[in-house]
Amino acid sequence: MARDPRYDILFEPQKIGPKTAPNRFYQVPHCNGGGYRDPSAVAAMRGVKAEGGWGVIFTEQTEMHPTSEITPFIELRLWEDQDIPMIARMAEKMKAHGALAGIQLAYSGINGPNFYTKEVPLAPSALPIRTFTNDPVQARAMDKSDIRNLRRWFVNAARRCERAGFDLICLYGAHGFGIFQHFLSRATNQRSDEYGGSLENRSRFVREVIADMREAVGDRMALTLRVSLDETIGDLGFSNAEVRDFIAMNADLPDLWDLAHGTWEDCSGPSRFKEEAAQEALVKGIRDLSQRPVVGVGRFTSPDVMVRMLRQGVLDFIGCARPSIADPFLPLKVAEGRIEDIRECIGCNMCITGDMTGGMGRCTQNPTWMEEWRRGWHPERIAPKGDSRSVLIIGSGPAGLEAARAAAMRGYEVAVAEAREELGGRVARERVLPGLSAWGRVVDYRLYQLRQRGNVSLYPGSPLTADDVMAFGFENVCVATGSRWRADGVARQHVMPIPHSGALPIFTPDDLMEGRMPTGRVVLFDDDHFYMGGVLAELLASQGCEVTLITPAAFVSDWTRNTLEQATIHRRLADRGITIRLNTGLASIKSDGVETTCSYTDRREFLGCDALVMVASRQSEDGLYHDLLSRQPDWQAAGIRSVRLIGDAAAPGPIAWATFAGHRYGRELDQGLWGEDWGDAPAFRREVAELSRDP
Ligand code: ADP
Ligand code: SF4
Repeated sequence: MARDPRYDILFEPQKIGPKTAPNRFYQVPHCNGGGYRDPSAVAAMRGVKAEGGWGVIFTEQTEMHPTSEITPFIELRLWEDQDIPMIARMAEKMKAHGALAGIQLAYSGINGPNFYTKEVPLAPSALPIRTFTNDPVQARAMDKSDIRNLRRWFVNAARRCERAGFDLICLYGAHGFGIFQHFLSRATNQRSDEYGGSLENRSRFVREVIADMREAVGDRMALTLRVSLDETIGDLGFSNAEVRDFIAMNADLPDLWDLAHGTWEDCSGPSRFKEEAAQEALVKGIRDLSQRPVVGVGRFTSPDVMVRMLRQGVLDFIGCARPSIADPFLPLKVAEGRIEDIRECIGCNMCITGDMTGGMGRCTQNPTWMEEWRRGWHPERIAPKGDSRSVLIIGSGPAGLEAARAAAMRGYEVAVAEAREELGGRVARERVLPGLSAWGRVVDYRLYQLRQRGNVSLYPGSPLTADDVMAFGFENVCVATGSRWRADGVARQHVMPIPHSGALPIFTPDDLMEGRMPTGRVVLFDDDHFYMGGVLAELLASQGCEVTLITPAAFVSDWTRNTLEQATIHRRLADRGITIRLNTGLASIKSDGVETTCSYTDRREFLGCDALVMVASRQSEDGLYHDLLSRQPDWQAAGIRSVRLIGDAAAPGPIAWATFAGHRYGRELDQGLWGEDWGDAPAFRREVAELSRDP
């Protein structure tokens, strides 16, 4: 199909200093969990984006000197020549299809605790290190020779970047993570010399670094500066007004202004709290302050919104991190007039948890992300089917639908049977909860893809029994029947059901999602710790309930610290009048309330209520699977070659786990890779450190 001419503007080349980007799709730096531990996996991931048509592709933040690093987070490192081959591999992959290759250099200053190098952190002023974990480490204030050294280290790093083949260097001064912001902000720069005080003085360091780097590589490489749009601490910090003054004062400083909201939590806000293009008001007008092109972000997934950003003169480049993860082929799909095929980011922030936990990055929408090299998974291509022909998938949740999509792409005859009238499993029910409507894209995208194909049949309203399955004669049976929330309280605090008389009404998340709502005073016990407890507290409050959320954890929705939304959730619940009791477990259930217990002292208290909502754990719906297993001797006669259990039905987890399991099922069908066929090697390639020759 031809490109819609209204999107032509997205494909206009644009100069950035001495370089020219082939189009306006700009993949801003983003972490991925792999970093220096898994360089080939990261390089292949960037390479897939190059293939997908991005015009500019960046690395994640690259630590450029051993006096500043952010262990336990795994990013890239460029400390010495030894590191060049690793980052050169990234540049090579990025450039393979005509994109410009960019590297983000980060000196973490007040954000780097140096747990690995054990060096004393250096920062503009002597203050405690500012990290997610309040590390008990302080920085030493840089003296003039430190500043001279750091300027030289940036030049050395720039030369190494050039040798590695990069076109662009982004200097990191956003999200509170980069030293340029630490100098620019009054909050972190309390110096009284020529580097502190007035905005002009606070700008001195970045001006000097860029001048030095320009002299070294500036005619051959473009230098971009990533600055925070607002530090969100009012006039105390680098405010939006001051950012504008800074840019007006230094209009031609970098070759491009890369604008990103103040904290990472603000910038990568989940769809639960932030709309697409949420930073527009903060960015608008900045482009008029300088002749240099401007890139900004805002979880852009709609080409129409992208076009509006360019036409209205808000931006020159459409910056994307998450949308490029969810669909590395987004630009190419726009170019080919295949807008409906774009796999839109749902704004769940699961991708960020790779970085936050030191795990490998995961994307709910794109299960191939970070598996491009490890498992050889490509987001758009898949091997043709093996020697069987047909697949019956039972359950249309994210696991079942993704299994169907992958198997259908390979050419199998696929049938999906779903007990309910509505397809989509848990997503169909969760998407109507407060703030989660964008999550519906997990289902919408897959159903659209499945409906385009001639080899897929969808059967809603079809609860299947083992008898049904045995009678159908499908060669492969994939059981993706999901899970149910437990009402008995079993999770982490309680490993056995909590006894009770039945007098106090108890509700589960499934009850609430199916419209069975409590009234009056409700205690919500959250021993799940991800989003569900907080979302349901919000739902209950909106229905007029008087809600008290109790949790044994020290934070509301504890695990959402990894999705960067914990503080926003707490604020939202507090604003809605929900009483929050942290470090508080559930001791026992009475007829007119609950007895709570302090997580530390076991001090008990009675809390009167009319109903209890139990957000505990989930139980797999694996009855059908076990029925089928018990009939294994009859499979051959029924024409069945394999029966597999996947997704929440195997082990409940986040939606991203389900799409991963579904994809893996479809990809590995007939490949002899599944379960009992495994050897004792990992199911993926990995890089093992090369031992030094010096023992
Ligand atoms: P997952 O996250 O693993 O995809 P979900 O809970 O989202 O799991 O989806 C499982 C789906 O399977 C639900 O929509 C449920 O109605 C459906 N289901 C469960 N048992 C059966 C069955 N016996 N026959 C058909 N569909 C079923
Ligand atoms: Fe978007 Fe979620 Fe994928 Fe991240 S994990 S890219 S937020 S869909």
